[in-house]
Amino acid sequence: MTESSFALFAHPEFAAHEKIAFFHDHASGLKAIIAIHDTTLGPALGGCRMWSYATEEEALRDVLRLSKGMTYKAAITGLPLGGGKSVIIGDARKDKTPEMMRAMGRAVDSLGGRYIIAEDVGTTVDDLSQMATQTKHAVGIGHGEHEGDPSPVTAYGVYVGLKAAVKTRLGRDTLRDVHVAVQGLGNVGYNLCKLLHKDGAKLSVTDVQTERVDTAVRDLGAAAVGLNDIYDVECDVFAPCALGAIVNPDTIARLKAPIIAGAANNQLAKAQDGETLRQKNILYAPDYVINAGGLISVHYEHQARLKGLPLDRVEMMTHVDRIAGTVEAIFAKAAKDGISTARASDLLAEEKLGQHKGQSRAA
Ligand code: NAD
Repeated sequence: MTESSFALFAHPEFAAHEKIAFFHDHASGLKAIIAIHDTTLGPALGGCRMWSYATEEEALRDVLRLSKGMTYKAAITGLPLGGGKSVIIGDARKDKTPEMMRAMGRAVDSLGGRYIIAEDVGTTVDDLSQMATQTKHAVGIGHGEHEGDPSPVTAYGVYVGLKAAVKTRLGRDTLRDVHVAVQGLGNVGYNLCKLLHKDGAKLSVTDVQTERVDTAVRDLGAAAVGLNDIYDVECDVFAPCALGAIVNPDTIARLKAPIIAGAANNQLAKAQDGETLRQKNILYAPDYVINAGGLISVHYEHQARLKGLPLDRVEMMTHVDRIAGTVEAIFAKAAKDGISTARASDLLAEEKLGQHKGQSRAA
């Protein structure tokens, strides 16, 4: 980044961020950015991504974009949380050390609870545990009987949202014989497949790791599909659970499914793709709404730890169940206003934020 091109407050992704903090720890080599987008609804919670960014500008753009997304996700999910995110600049396989993770924990702690750190690409439960030695504002490390990994809860939330989409678009109350094409059989995708299988859904699956596909074929009666053929499957639901940007003009032209409902983050390559889906009558369950189970999980974990109580699993899962009502409200608004479901979701999230800001001003 040259000096003349430097822009922070005028950065295209700035989006009125409340705080952007840069951290350097000489001893461990930590270079990190923590972005707090909006704390109207509560402290900013978001994952920590460690990535070998080509430039510092790329790291800044990523953290700003991701942290704004967390504000919308928390708002639409009805959590008393704001949006934030952090990035550590470096190669997670080569540069990461426990000292560096502890330095990151101190960086988080210096913000006094305005930012709560969680796992993301390039960080693990072990890393979060190192951070947690320095701050109480680290989540996803487990609490009592509750495991740190939020993936099973995320999978359950996707399942709930997928069922609501099937009901809306196909008018079916159960998943029996509903055909779902699942891209990615990782922590979330495989757990989702198990839930779908239990309900009698028919599965077509793909993954770069062929042993995962073999397991799904053997244990869940799934049909194996080639990596690039997953978009062409004649099915009822396409469930992306691997990569982002997989919904783009090329794949939209190929998709046969009338529904897209999966866990992957940032599924739409461009905002315009949401509108193209609407025009093609493909019902898209917005990714950040139906994959919010993980955020719900870490929120309840954090609250339980702060209060020194066991995690209330029933209360947590009841909150995850509410994802169904949220997606139904989004579908209804999109249909009523003639807009894409992605747009309807953003508008509903902004409404919730606006209402709260209005209430705070009135108080
Ligand atoms: P994961 O790494 O455990 O699983 C991803 C799987 O996708 C792996 O099995 C991988 O081999 C496979 N994959 C990679 N490239 C592929 C390709 N081209 N085609 C098919 N399969 C491919 O990740 P995860 O935790 O299961 O998360 C899946 C998605 O859901 C990610 O986009 C993640 O950001 C998102 N998400 C996860 C959570 C969570 O709680 N884990 C929460 C919200 C969102």
